[in-house]
Amino acid sequence: MGKKEVALVVCGVAAAALAAAGAAAVVRRQMWKSGRWAKAMAIVNELEDKCGTPITRLRHVAEAMTVEMHAGLASEGGSKLKMLVSYVDNLPTGDEEGLFYALDLGGTNFRVLRVHLGGQGKGVGKQEFQEVSIPPHLMTGTSDALFDYIAETLGKFVATEEEGYPFPGRDRELGFTFSFPVNQTSIASGTLIRWTKGFSIEDAIGEDVVGELTKALRRNGLDMQVTALVNDTVGTLASGRYYNPDVICAVILGTGTNAAYVERANAIPKWHGPPPSSGEMVINMEWGNFWSSHLPLTEYDLALDTESLNPGEQIFEKIISGMYLGEILRRVLLRMAEDAAFFGDTVPPKLKIPFILRTPDMSAMHHDESRDLEVVGKKLQAILEISNTSLEARKVIIKLCDIVATRGARLSSAGILGILKKLERDNITASGGQKSVIALDGGLFEHYMKFSASMESTLKELLGEEIANSIVIERSNDGSGIGAALLAASHSTYLQAPEES
Ligand code: ADP
Ligand code: MG
Repeated sequence: MGKKEVALVVCGVAAAALAAAGAAAVVRRQMWKSGRWAKAMAIVNELEDKCGTPITRLRHVAEAMTVEMHAGLASEGGSKLKMLVSYVDNLPTGDEEGLFYALDLGGTNFRVLRVHLGGQGKGVGKQEFQEVSIPPHLMTGTSDALFDYIAETLGKFVATEEEGYPFPGRDRELGFTFSFPVNQTSIASGTLIRWTKGFSIEDAIGEDVVGELTKALRRNGLDMQVTALVNDTVGTLASGRYYNPDVICAVILGTGTNAAYVERANAIPKWHGPPPSSGEMVINMEWGNFWSSHLPLTEYDLALDTESLNPGEQIFEKIISGMYLGEILRRVLLRMAEDAAFFGDTVPPKLKIPFILRTPDMSAMHHDESRDLEVVGKKLQAILEISNTSLEARKVIIKLCDIVATRGARLSSAGILGILKKLERDNITASGGQKSVIALDGGLFEHYMKFSASMESTLKELLGEEIANSIVIERSNDGSGIGAALLAASHSTYLQAPEES
């Protein structure tokens, strides 16, 4: 062997050693990576397990809902379900007539509406509305500031009336949809029990919300009369019934969630008022505050609740509704970033900001059907400043969306089953084949298609084929505002004195 050859052999040995070392580093890196991946998957699997909603669990939830409904109707404070008496004992008939206003204060936005009611089956004529988002600082400021802002917006809207007000000498009348828990004291008055959905205006609690609104209207030079104060569920039920006599219940899935339904007046032991001539009363359940040991709760839900403005309250709402779904997802992603370096060696700072990931964005990611999951990539980049995610990571994120949304959707259906059970409309024998229509409204139900699809299929699954055909979910478009206008009309102060008009 010559010198050259020896050198070559030495070189070869060195190269082989180097290659081996490199390969070992790659393997080590892969092992480390797969270790992180395994950790991340363990977090996903645990979440899936804890959020599980097998049919037996849903039946337990429905059963608990029925039990709590009875308890809430039996006595004041008898349940976490307030089962508030709405004072609406007559739902719209179709005879409502005239020009009415409505104001719908929901959560994210408020709307002002002007509605022409045709009377005697002629239906709703011209409808005009304006939607305004509520400046965040007004959600935690003072009662006057919030109501002044509303009155001012309403004033500008009234000024756009084209044909003028058709009843000279009369005040304009207004139905007020106020989607927070209120102890109703008549059809047009009620005191605020507490705020939900991120509102916290201390000086409004315990006050008559119609009184507060009326004072603000006067301060802003508006002579309007509030003739109906309704919850959005009650408004949705009213407008649902106006269009379809089989509507028995309304459910809202928007920023928050709630339900109202028509109850037999003699099934409300805590009601000591005069028996309504119709024999019926609309009950605002405030089901967002429902709680049962059967609810599948996770560490993320508990932390979200603890850090919320209303800890211990609205637990059902906090695992179902639009205000919270995106935030639950953010919390899971943060844990994966912190404990499993899911997004690389550093935790993306934006991921630490509460409520930065909104449910509409979660929904957009969940519905991404592109091959590269482009929407997921873009949302992560735009909202969380996370770039270069692998396809595998994006798939995992879709799976997380699915786990969180499916739990919410299936629990919503269990809640509806609870109401149907209370009304004995969950089986063909008791219901006598009567049709039951549930009016559903809210941005979450309207826009999050995988959520609404899961809800509808779950309800069918829970009910069984035979009865499922006579129970229908009907989308109600912005029923809460129209419903308030209809109730303002049927409770008009000018109805008792027709000779004046
Ligand atoms: P509110 O409940 O405030 O009266 P909406 O019924 O319009 O108002 O619901 C608004 C809520 O609906 C938003 O806060 C959001 O959580 C949810 N939402 C709106 N658009 C979408 C969407 N595309 N996908 C999922 N959720 C949505
Ligand atoms: Mg609303």
